This record gives sequence, C-alpha cells and structure tokens, in this order.
Amino acid sequence: MKIKEHKHTASDPIKRLAPSPSVRFGAKGLCLVVAAGDSVRAGQLLAVSPREDRFAKHVCSPYNGSVVQIQPDVVVHGEPDVVVATGSHVAPLSLAPEYIVERAKVAGIVGMGGGAYPTHLKLTTGLPVDTVIVNGCESEPYLTCDARVLVEYRAEVDCGLQLAARAVGASRTLIANAHHGYPGGYEKTLVSEYCGHLVPTGQRPHHVGVIVINVQTARALHQAVCLGRPLLDRVVTVAGGAVGCPGNYLVPLGTEVGHVLKECATDVSKIAAVVLGGPMMGREAQLETTVEAWAGGVLALVPGEIHRPVDMPCIRCGDCLVACPAGLSARHLVLRPNPSLRDCTECGMCQYVCPAERPLVRLLRQAKAKIG
Ligand code: SF4
Ligand code: SF4
Repeated sequence: MKIKEHKHTASDPIKRLAPSPSVRFGAKGLCLVVAAGDSVRAGQLLAVSPREDRFAKHVCSPYNGSVVQIQPDVVVHGEPDVVVATGSHVAPLSLAPEYIVERAKVAGIVGMGGGAYPTHLKLTTGLPVDTVIVNGCESEPYLTCDARVLVEYRAEVDCGLQLAARAVGASRTLIANAHHGYPGGYEKTLVSEYCGHLVPTGQRPHHVGVIVINVQTARALHQAVCLGRPLLDRVVTVAGGAVGCPGNYLVPLGTEVGHVLKECATDVSKIAAVVLGGPMMGREAQLETTVEAWAGGVLALVPGEIHRPVDMPCIRCGDCLVACPAGLSARHLVLRPNPSLRDCTECGMCQYVCPAERPLVRLLRQAKAKIG
C-alpha cells in the first residue's frame, strides 16, 4: 500500500527561523553545570549525565544569553550566533579514532533520523566495521529536511561520513538516497540492498560490519570535529494543512513548537494534531513541546490529514505481517511479546494497513515495555 508523500517542501531552500526569546531543555536526571543568573555563550555546556550513565548526554546552550531558570527545565534567554563558520575540513586520517568519538560525545550528538541514540556509542561498537552508510532516504511523508541538507550542505555531510568511517575503521562509505516510498530507509533493508548482508533477528547492522547514520548526524559530526561546534540546532520541515509558510527551517534545539508554528504563519484554529517528527514515527506534541535533535518535522495537521484508529477486534487477516518491513506479525506480538519485538522500529505500517484499525504502535510499545 503506497502512502501519500505530501513532500511539497522538497524544493524549498533552508531558511533560518526567527529565534524565540528563549530555549528550554529538560534537566531531569542530569547534572547541571550552570546556575540561574549565569551568563552563557552559544556552545557552552549546560548539563551532563551522571558519570555512571553510559549514554553520557551533553546539553549545550544554542544561545548567547543568560540562564533564567534551572528547574524543572533549564531555560536560557538570549539569541543564537548568527554567523557559523563553514568550509573548514580536517583530514580524517590525521585524527585518532578516539578523538573523533570524544568530539561526538562532548558535542552531544545523537541520531538525528529519529533514534536519538548517542553517536559516540554508535561509533564504538567493539566489533569490526567495514562500511558506513549515510541514510538519506527520508521516506516519512512531509519530511524533506534531510534531502535539502544533502543538496545544500553535501560537502559537510561527506566530511562527517569520512570522519565516522575513520572513527570505526571502515574502508567503504556510501550515501543511500534511493527513494522507494515509506518505509524505505529501514536500516536492515539498506544493509541488505547496499551491502548484501542479512542482519539476523535481534541484531543490529554493526553485527554484520555496517553502521548507518543520518544525514544531519553526519553534518553534526563534521561541525563538532572540524569547527568545534556542539549540536545546537537542526533543519526541520515545518508543514501540514494549518501552516501558512511551510518549508525547511534551521531551528535552535529547545525552541517551543508553538514558536515555530507562529513564525510559519500557522492558523492554530485549524489544527487537529501537532506532531513532532514525521506523521508515521513522530510523536503527538503540544505547542509547549520543544524541538529535539531527533525530530525532523514540526507538523500542524488539519482534520483531513489525520486518522485516529478506533480499535475494533482483530479479524486475523494477516495484513500487518505482509506490511511489516521487518517481517513481524504485530497481531501475534501484541498478544505474546517475544524478543523479536526488538526488530520493531515502530514504523507504523502495520497500523496503517490494519482493517480493524487497531492502535498497533501503542500496543507494540506496551509489549516492548513488558519484555524490557
Ligand atoms: S492487520 Fe489488524 S486485523 Fe489484520 S491480522 Fe493484523 S491486527 Fe489483525
Ligand atoms: S511498527 Fe509494525 S510494521 Fe513497523 S516494524 Fe513494528 S511491527 Fe513491523
């Protein structure tokens, strides 16, 4: 079943969003390194994970300004640096792999394709890796931000790809941007298509010697290593029937969704649902929700663009199994969770095709929580 693409912003050049007066970050579980009233510079560390946390989360200020609140969220009032250095590329072979990994860590880089998995961990698999793929497929409806970054910042993405390859010792690099419609770009499918390796159930691409990173993750790695710039912003597609000026915008992390939509001339009275990320894998959001590194979209959808499942009894048609890119039977997994659930990317295809309109993604998430 083909999903409508709605990629009307595909040829819109990236614009810088007019900044909001402040940005906000959740501080729960983090160690603050600033106090209320402190002055901060763009790029300065605000909070970091406790030492024992292997995810080693680093949150840096996208703004020059001052810290006006630290609990429950850190709020920085100010404005971003408008001039960002470009064009400087460090030769990957001149760098130690450990240095690249450390730069990714302190820059706070995470998977920007939706996973938000820390990039420094992805670059330290402990297993031999021979290939790094930049995933530029971006098959989610509405989203075109990665495609625009590939067009407008190709040299930076290429540089980040080479740095990632240096970090893991890979000899082969490639950018995958074939367009097969949703859910094209599923990692295991890419590894099979481009490398000919089958990733077994319960395993990840690095188990067969491949890592896959997102377009904007690669660019962020370039900025961290070559420019010393932490992850402070990202390109986001702003779209949906309620948005007056849809397009691709560079948005500081921590910006409220409501500000993004206001700057894009959104008619709030028309909104039926706000989504952070794409419509298939994103999360329903509020106007107060803030833009995070993983989120490629801010969508303000009107009633004709959404469909909420009504949850009727399963008719055992098997359509969910046929539609699943991972070959999973959602019908069975929600009844009897098992470890193959770890292969579920929550892509939503099973729910999309289900004639009984079962809320399968929510049920799959609950099932995953049961197996831990
Ligand atoms: S698609 Fe829906 S109705 Fe069909 S087997 Fe799967 S869960 Fe049941
Ligand atoms: S959400 Fe459904 S279709 Fe997608 S991977 Fe999980 S089980 Fe398969």
